[in-house]
Amino acid sequence: MTIETRTSIVWDYAPAPESADHIRLKDRYGLFVDGEFRDPRDGRYVSTINPATEEPIAEVADGGPDDVTAAVESARAAYPKWAALKDLERAKYLFRIARLIQERSRELAVVETMDGGKPLRESRDVDIPLAAAHFFHYAGWSDKLRYGVNAPEVEPLGVVGQIVPWNFPLLMAAWKLAPALACGNVAILKPAETTPLTALLLAEICQEAELPPGVVTILPGDGSTGAALVRAPGIDKVAFTGSTAVGRDIQAALAGTNTRLTLELGGKSANIVFEDAALDQAVEGIVNGIFFNQGHVCCAGSRLLIQESVRDEVIAKLWQRMGRLRLGDPMDKNTDVGAINSAEQLERIETLVAAGEDEGATRRTVSCDIPERGYWFAPTLFTDVSPAHRIAVDEIFGPVVSVLTFRTQAEAIEKANNSRYGLAAGIWTDKGSKAFEVASALKAGVVWQNTYNHFDPTAAFGGYKESGFGREGGPAGLRPYLKIVR
Ligand code: NAD
Repeated sequence: MTIETRTSIVWDYAPAPESADHIRLKDRYGLFVDGEFRDPRDGRYVSTINPATEEPIAEVADGGPDDVTAAVESARAAYPKWAALKDLERAKYLFRIARLIQERSRELAVVETMDGGKPLRESRDVDIPLAAAHFFHYAGWSDKLRYGVNAPEVEPLGVVGQIVPWNFPLLMAAWKLAPALACGNVAILKPAETTPLTALLLAEICQEAELPPGVVTILPGDGSTGAALVRAPGIDKVAFTGSTAVGRDIQAALAGTNTRLTLELGGKSANIVFEDAALDQAVEGIVNGIFFNQGHVCCAGSRLLIQESVRDEVIAKLWQRMGRLRLGDPMDKNTDVGAINSAEQLERIETLVAAGEDEGATRRTVSCDIPERGYWFAPTLFTDVSPAHRIAVDEIFGPVVSVLTFRTQAEAIEKANNSRYGLAAGIWTDKGSKAFEVASALKAGVVWQNTYNHFDPTAAFGGYKESGFGREGGPAGLRPYLKIVR
């Protein structure tokens, strides 16, 4: 085992920090219940901190069991009117929310970056525009639900409990809320404990859009709030995005009940590079696949499968490209790799990386200036990885890629499918027929060809195996929120 490090930032950029002067955050945010912000019943507030500076940003309510009960009561009261609203009227609210997200996009991008640590370039160009696009997309479906699911008569399910993780806070909220509301359901959304702020700004947007009280509830809190929400009487459906371990717990809790469930869980996705691929493009795709959002991406291309004949060339190009990634202040518009979301997540990454070294893989970590405060992990590449190593099996959820090799197409498929997960995959080849053949043999919900981490509200997203079940996005994303009457 050797550790090589290098720094190859070949030119310096002047700092280009985005200003936070224009945002208007309150010191304290309560729970958004019945169309207004309220104090939690037991009065508990916790600070949400900026992971790039470790400074507190605001205090946020920590929802307890009584708050869950109040949220469900308010949602149940709002449901009949919302479900009975004319389709086009429901659509108007969704269009309004989409436009308000666009109007407040600069503010939302800055707050997303401060609360979660992701580079501003990503929150500005990916998270916020895609969140608006999801509301626009499902606004358009509101009066076409029957066509979307190909059934003559459909009904909403009722009150939906939705739980999201911290890696794409506003975007995941939009993935959940937009289809649920379009289908005539009312929703209670629990944001993740480390990133509640943009969901609370979305609550303000719901007020500005004059959404009827109780149609959207935002219930900040930790895992125990989520666990109480899942088990609350009066919840008709649960939609969860997060870790496989928690997904399993929720599935066990709901077994034998009438509550419907969809799960979007973890992944260990294979990014497969064939020898006939355009290798420079593939390297850009590998970088985007694993270093986008510090690798805090459920579908990250964390298992890189390279055909043996081009292994050395791809690794050399990749290593050179990695050395040019800029790690640092997420508010700087030139930053490529921001802060790790929390101290706990940093510890998880460090534990798995140490396991990789202990098990005999070769680690290379880019050497760069690490800010003194905050949580950081420099881009890391593992070679000499065997399929049984933990770094080839477990989700690291950080900027760490594990390289495996293959000789034939059949071996590539076998290795890619050798995972308990099945969320996504990438295929890099110049041959269309090969791409389609491989894609149809892969057990993965999304397969990208000559691109990676490409998201669109019209396309379905979801997993196989331990990556979960149910789809979000496109017409397929309507199905989990509708009862097919006939
Ligand atoms: P996590 O499961 O710990 O937390 C996710 C959410 O669930 C948070 O809001 C948390 O408060 C809540 N929660 C925790 N314990 C709970 C419980 N017992 N009952 C109900 N809710 C509970 O996951 P995380 O570490 O915050 O997020 C990272 C995980 O999310 C990764 O595994 C990643 O792959 C996955 N993820 C999946 C997708 C997808 O679409 N498949 C998208 C993003 C993230």
